[in-house]
This record gives sequence, C-alpha cells and structure tokens, in this order.
Amino acid sequence: MTLTEKPTSTKASKTFCLEAFCAALPQWAERIQRRVQQSLQASDQNLGHLEELLLKDTKEIQRQAVEEAAQKKAEGVPARCPCCGQLLRRVTSGHSRSFETRFGSITLQRTRGYCKRCRKWRYPADAALGLAETAGYSPSVQEMAALAVSKLPVAEAERVIERLAGVKIPRATLDREAKRQGEQAEQLRQQMDEKTQTPQGAAAVSRALQMELPLEPFTLVIMIDAWNIRERDDWGQSERLRRKGLEPARWHWAYNATVFRLTERAQSAAGRPIILSRGYVTTRWGIDALRGQLYAEAVRRGLHHAQQILVIADGAVWIWHLAEDRFPQARQQLDLFHAKQHLWAVAHELHGSGSAAAAAWVEPLLKQLEKGQAQRVIRRLEEVLAETSRSQAKLVKREVEYFKNNQHRMDYGAAKKAGEPLGSGAIESTCRQYQCRFKRPGQFWTTEGDEALMCLETFWRNGRWNQLFPHVGDFDPSKN
Ligand SMILES: [Zn+2]
Repeated sequence: MTLTEKPTSTKASKTFCLEAFCAALPQWAERIQRRVQQSLQASDQNLGHLEELLLKDTKEIQRQAVEEAAQKKAEGVPARCPCCGQLLRRVTSGHSRSFETRFGSITLQRTRGYCKRCRKWRYPADAALGLAETAGYSPSVQEMAALAVSKLPVAEAERVIERLAGVKIPRATLDREAKRQGEQAEQLRQQMDEKTQTPQGAAAVSRALQMELPLEPFTLVIMIDAWNIRERDDWGQSERLRRKGLEPARWHWAYNATVFRLTERAQSAAGRPIILSRGYVTTRWGIDALRGQLYAEAVRRGLHHAQQILVIADGAVWIWHLAEDRFPQARQQLDLFHAKQHLWAVAHELHGSGSAAAAAWVEPLLKQLEKGQAQRVIRRLEEVLAETSRSQAKLVKREVEYFKNNQHRMDYGAAKKAGEPLGSGAIESTCRQYQCRFKRPGQFWTTEGDEALMCLETFWRNGRWNQLFPHVGDFDPSKN
C-alpha cells in the first residue's frame, strides 16, 4: 500500500503499515546500539547520559512515524468544509505545510478546496488533525505552550519546554500561542456556563453528577474572596496621567471563589484539613462575571442537589450582595478570623496595642464568639461603650454596629458541631496560589492576557484539562 491510497475498507486497515517507518527501523536499531555501546564504555557517563542518548536517538524514529501516520490521516479526510459540512469545490491536493510536533518538524501534503457557503478556501485535514489555522503547532505542542505559560513566566517557560520536551518555541510565539489557547478556554467556559442556565443543560449536568454525588444529604460550601493584580492598562501613558495630576492606576481586583461539598472535606496524613475535590472560579472581568461563573460552577458541583448552601467570606459587602442575589437560600457565615480581628481592634483601643491587659480583656470574648454567643459579645461591647471615654467611643460604636450587622453570620458553635469550616481559609490559600503566579515582582499584565491565563489555570485546577486538550485522555491534574 502506498501513501496516496486511502485506508477506507476494513481489508485495507488490516494491511495497514507505516512503510517508510518500518523500513527504516533496522538501521536505527543498529545505530542506537552502537551509540549505547560507546556510552557504556565511557566511565564518566551515567544513567542520565543513557536516558538523554535514547531520548535523542529515538526522537527521529518517532518523528517519522508521526509524520507518516498524520499523512495517512490527512488522506482519509473527506473533502468537506470542516465548518459547515458542504462538499468543497475546485479541490486540489499536494498543498504542503510544516508543523512543529513534540518529535520535531513534520511536513504534510493536504487537500484544499473552496467552500461556496463559507466563501473560504478550506484544508479539511488541518481541522481533522487539530491543527490551528494560524499557528503551525501540533495539539500536543499547543498544550505544552498553554501549560508552561500558565505556570511560569514566558521566558522561563521557553527554557523549560526546550529542556524537558526538546521543543523550541520562540518566546513571542509562545506568549501568543498560550494566549490563544487561553482565549479558547474562555470560549469553552462560556459554553459550559451557558449550558447550566437552560433546563435541558442543567438536567444534563445533573445526570453527569449522579455518579459522584453522596447518597446522604450534603452541604455545598461556597467561599469567595478577591485580590489585587498589577496590570499595564495605562502603560506608556504614565507621564501624561501624572501631568494631569493622576496617578496611573495599575492595581486591579481579581475575583476568586471555590465550591465544594462538605463530604469532600478530609484530613491529610499530617492531620491538616484537605478538600478532596472542589471547583475553582477566577476572573478579572468584575463581580458580574464572577457571579455568572460561580453560579455555573456551583451547579456543576451539585447546587440543585444540596440540602444546604453555606457561603463563607471575610465580610466584604459586595460578597453578601452576590450571595443574596445568586444563592438566596444560602446561610451566610463571616470568617471567624476576621470577626476576631474586630474584637482585637477594640482590645487594643481600650488597653493599648499589644498589651497584656488587652489580651486578658479579649480572651473571654474570643471564646464566646467561638461558641457562637455573639449576643453576649454584643452585650459586653455595649456595656463598654456606655462606660468609655469620648475618644474611644467612636471605634467601639463602630464595632458594636459591625457585630450587630453580622450577628446572623456568627453561628460558629453550630458550624463546629456540623463539621463545617469556621473560616474562609480554603479560598484565601487559593488566592495566594494564584498570586504566586500572577503577582511576581516586575510583572505587568493586560486584562485580556490575565483572563486567558487564569482561565487555563482554572481548567487545570478543576480537573478539566482534557476538555481543552482531548488527547490528554483521563489525566486529571486535580487528583493526587
Ligand atoms: Zn463551509
């Protein structure tokens, strides 16, 4: 069978052979054995040298195999428009193009035809092989770019890919390619999110969930937080803005949330609380975007099946508004650590910052708070307010208001009994992890670039990397 024949019938596929590849194998085997022999005799070479040697020497074999196989795949693709399915006109073959794969560059001969409906020239093989119109990279190399740049600054990503995968991607190309992948991830996220908003879509999500939902009634926990990110939206305009007396605004909010079922909470071997499976949401596009994305993620984690919804946050007012809007049935809980900080503020005001007297004063109140006795804490603060000097009254009054406004969010005693988290530590640690990547010194971002990379990172964390890159199979980066 020659390369130009199509492997269409069963008979043909039974006799299928990568001819050029198979013919070249014996020569390669001989060459590799010779090289291995040399390495074995060199006293200064260890297993690492053998690994490098075999990696390099077998790469060309793999490159040729993938080139030949891809060529066969290209030839089996019917001459139809990959976008609308119309039969293509004026079809010609032999259109050559090179693509970078993880084994090196391959060159394919493709068929081209004109789609009358789309009014475009099409290469159906490119679509079938997962090759993008714009960049000449294989799906595997596209994935490498997306993964490396979402984890590392692009200059480092370039070197790491070259070292670990032996693929050279120029920095500017790598940056562009990762951003393109990120934008595709954003599109996919939008499709997935929209699906949760239709009755049919939500029903499909529910069916998919049935397998993983616990049999017993469960609580769905939602934690929300925000952090600052540095961007160069006023890049190059700093001087102009400063002349006008304006300081260029470069810090912006990034919004994070996490969703998990309480039944997914467990302990690590070292006794630390861990969450076995959970969903993440991150966006730079503002609170409205967060609201939509978070609702969709909550649906995917069992919102419509949960007996209870619990929202935990640090007390920012926009978070409670969001919770009331999207999760009106939810119980709200203020992060215990933040509530304690407010008591400490009163203690320092009354007894001096860092003093033993302040600690002695606050201790019983902290205990009451932990037991969920917010009413008693408020009563004590009101007594203090009645006795206090005018200079201290302002702060104490403010804190009385704070505890009164949040009293219904301070039922820590019940939360502890139910095995619920008392604070929003799980989201705060998530924010820190994102910050590690997105807040390096000297790093500036654009909103579009941010969102694209954050979206990639979130697909990875959510265990949905294979939805972006189907060749990954059942690899799930969120599972240990
Ligand atoms: Zn078409």
